[in-house]
Amino acid sequence: MQYFAGIDIGSTAIKIAIVNENKKLMGYKINASGSMFYKYAKQALKELLSELKIDEKELVYTIATGYGRKLFTEADENISEITANAIGAVEAAKEKCDVRTIINIGGQDSKAISLDSEGNVVNFAMNDRCAAGTGKFLDVVATNLEIGVDELGEYHFKSQGTPLSINSTCAVFAESEIIGLLGNNNKVEDIVAGVHYSIAKRIVKLVKRVGIKESIYFDGGPALNHGLVNAIENELGKEIFIPDFPQITTSYGAAILAHESHGYENET
Ligand code: ADP
Repeated sequence: MQYFAGIDIGSTAIKIAIVNENKKLMGYKINASGSMFYKYAKQALKELLSELKIDEKELVYTIATGYGRKLFTEADENISEITANAIGAVEAAKEKCDVRTIINIGGQDSKAISLDSEGNVVNFAMNDRCAAGTGKFLDVVATNLEIGVDELGEYHFKSQGTPLSINSTCAVFAESEIIGLLGNNNKVEDIVAGVHYSIAKRIVKLVKRVGIKESIYFDGGPALNHGLVNAIENELGKEIFIPDFPQITTSYGAAILAHESHGYENET
C-alpha cells in the first residue's frame, strides 16, 4: 500500500494527515508547535506512522504547508496554506456542499478565501497583524477566565440576553477590559459570548473583503468552538458548514495534493 502525508506546521499546532491510495483519511495527529516546531513535526510524523502501523517506506510523498513549511526539508514539496486549505475544504465537504468561501481562524491569524465553482482560489484576505480575531485571543480569554479553551462553546450557550460588548480593538486592551468586566461582577458566560461576538464581527468584515458566497466553510482550531460558530452565523445571517475535523483541513488538503502529485489524479 502507498500512503501520502500532509504536514501543516502552524504557529500554534502541527497537524499531520495521512491518506491512502484511495484518498481515504487513515489518521491524523495534532501536536503543539512549540519553539522547536521542526523537531516536533518530525517526531509527530514518526509517532503517527507507528500508530497507523505504516512503514516509513510506504509513505511515498509528503507535502509540507503552513508557517513553518520551508524548514521541514524532509518533505518532497511545500505549498502555501491558502492552496492546501482550499483543496482540503473542497474534498472534506464534497458530499455535503459546494464550498465557495472559507473562513479560517488559526492560532495567530485569520483568513477569508474565495473559491470559484471549480474550487480554485480567486481571492483571499488575511489578518495577521492583530491578535484579536485569532485563536491566541481565545486562549488568553480562557486563561483569564480560568476555563479551558474547549469549554468556551459551552459557556457561550449558557449566556442569556444581549451579549456583553467588548469594545477594545486590540487583544492586549481587550484582556484588560475582560478583567474589568469580571471585577464588575459580570458572569463568565456573558463575557465569553461578548468575546465570541467581537471576534465574529471582525471575521465578517474580513469575509466581506473577498465577498460572501455560499456555501461557507469554517475551519482551523477555533471552528471546534460551537459558541464562536453560533456568533459568526448570527453576524453573517447565514449558515456555515463545519467539517468533522476542522483543525486538520489544511494538512488534509496537502495530503490530497501529495496523492495527486503522485499520479493518482483520476482515482477516487
Ligand atoms: P495554527 O494552524 O495557526 O497553528 P490552529 O488552526 O491549529 O492554528 O488553531 C489553534 C487554535 O485553536 C488555538 O489557539 C485554540 O484557540 C483553538 N483550539 C484548539 N483546540 C480547541 C478546542 N478543542 N476547542 C476550541 N478551540 C480550540
